[in-house]
Amino acid sequence: MWNLFCRRDIVTMELKCAVQTYNWGKRGADSIVATLMKSVNADFAVDEQQTYAELWMGTHENGPSYLKNTETPLHKCIQENAETLGGNTVQTFGSNLPFLFKVLSINRALSIQVHPDKAKAKELHELQPNVYKDPNYKPELAIALTDFEALCGFRPIDEIKLRLQKLPELRIVMGRTNVHSLFEADDSMVSDTLRQCFHSLMTCDSDEVARQLKCLIDRLRNADLATRSWAEVDLLERLCTDFPGDAGCFTIYLFNHIRLKPGEAIYIGPNVPHAYLSGDCVECMACSDNVIRAGLTPKLKDVPTLIQTMSFECVSPSTIQLQPFQENTFTTVFRPPVPEFAVAQITIPPGQACNLEPRSSASILLIASGEAEMSSKPFPRGSVLFIAANEKVEIKMSSKRDTGCDADPLLMFQAFSNI
Ligand SMILES: [Zn+2]
Repeated sequence: MWNLFCRRDIVTMELKCAVQTYNWGKRGADSIVATLMKSVNADFAVDEQQTYAELWMGTHENGPSYLKNTETPLHKCIQENAETLGGNTVQTFGSNLPFLFKVLSINRALSIQVHPDKAKAKELHELQPNVYKDPNYKPELAIALTDFEALCGFRPIDEIKLRLQKLPELRIVMGRTNVHSLFEADDSMVSDTLRQCFHSLMTCDSDEVARQLKCLIDRLRNADLATRSWAEVDLLERLCTDFPGDAGCFTIYLFNHIRLKPGEAIYIGPNVPHAYLSGDCVECMACSDNVIRAGLTPKLKDVPTLIQTMSFECVSPSTIQLQPFQENTFTTVFRPPVPEFAVAQITIPPGQACNLEPRSSASILLIASGEAEMSSKPFPRGSVLFIAANEKVEIKMSSKRDTGCDADPLLMFQAFSNI
């Protein structure tokens, strides 16, 4: 009986998704996560004191989606109707969605972290299943919904050296001998010496870190505009307020500080250090929750594993930003260099309609703003749909909202597997 129900409606099954209330999320109705949920769930009460950090769309066991108005997990429905995933996806990944799709609403920095590669994830999960909860890797793609900032990858080495020259406090916490080695290193030794410097920072005595951070802030507080800019004083003050005495505050001088406008994206491969700082984004990743944390967090910091795993390669910010390609008039697609996922951004102007490109895999579609209409049924902002592989879906802006050229365009994001 249940199977029949599932098959009949499988083309566009509406989902009810899970919310994660991590403490770095935006509060109450300031959080896009809360307003998306509220828009489609009449019984969802927004608590203005609560932080709403992430909306999870998918089958990960830490926050699974359900078919709307039922007790049926999406995971179960997919397992019993594996053909909805598409043949190639099933062959490559088995009978489950290979990706996890999210919306993040960030009020204060997330921890500095890396995600292990496949081999390391498997090893960590076997050794410490309570900390590393699944055996999968977690490459991730973030597309900005609002102005968005993140730390990501080590800066080009000349930028790091410049900051070391100008900031004696940074030289102290990274160890003068290590810093000397870094300046002496030829190209082939840069990563190794950077590893020593970073290890010294992460294991530096906490009183010394607090003392040097205070020194640095006191010195920079009254600096001229140019210094405030390269020394990122506003960011430093913000992080030191949220994470007093945390060695992670110094990493703003080591990692690229990336600022994205809505519609711009970054791709973070395995082992690349990163920390999201503020803003809202849509995020897609391989189906995993494995995180090795290094700083800007009260949670467990696994420094030895982090140092072993982290890539100490210096990269320019332009290599981290992922450029989309234009698929059709309304659609741009972000395709990271992994098979688990790609994400399409679809923008339909008022008064227009489009057929979603049929995907060879199952997809998850989020209505991020505006109201969509499919088969004469309205889907307001916040609607999340599971769409079976190879289905043709005609979609237009809801006639109810289509009141003229000043109406907001319909903005949607669709995640699917990248094979
Ligand atoms: Zn991450």
